[in-house]
Amino acid sequence: MAGKRIGILAIHGSVVEHAESLRRLNFTPVEIRAAKDLETVYGLILPGGESTTIGDLAQQFGLREAIVNFAKSGKTIYGTCAGLILLARYGLLDVKIDRNAYGRQIHSFEVDLEIPALGKKSFNGIFIRAPKILSAAKSVEILAQFEDSPILVKQGNIWGGSFHPELTDDLRIHKLIFGGK
Ligand code: GLN
Repeated sequence: MAGKRIGILAIHGSVVEHAESLRRLNFTPVEIRAAKDLETVYGLILPGGESTTIGDLAQQFGLREAIVNFAKSGKTIYGTCAGLILLARYGLLDVKIDRNAYGRQIHSFEVDLEIPALGKKSFNGIFIRAPKILSAAKSVEILAQFEDSPILVKQGNIWGGSFHPELTDDLRIHKLIFGGK
């Protein structure tokens, strides 16, 4: 039986990988390309990719305002990497971001992350031209850090991370955020 519908902003970036993670948790992934698509989902993922491209097109498609309204309605949004940059730019997550601060594409890396909310087993963090969170407002909960910088944060219904759990088989972060089996 198909589960709850969760949207993925499907303009560009790692859309199919997030869809697969959601499917494995029994959710129904829904590709979001227009504001009206958001009416049918109860959560939303802003994937990684190129934040300039995603941001420009989201603006053109009238999605920026729709995403802000979606957030204000209290529904869950999770931004990964470029998605995290958009959440900060849209004023939905009160953090300061430095784009590409972990280095260029060839400096992409994987590292075992300790994320207490997920239990003892470490999480394989994949960083691809990742944004660094330089600072976070007091109301932002820091769920994990790497080298003294926050890398997974939550502010009410808004979640942001600088790495790519959708590129691993580990479903714990998607499950933590959206629930599921
Ligand atoms: N470097 C990209 C940006 O600034 C983000 C990279 C990613 O999402 N993997 O938009």
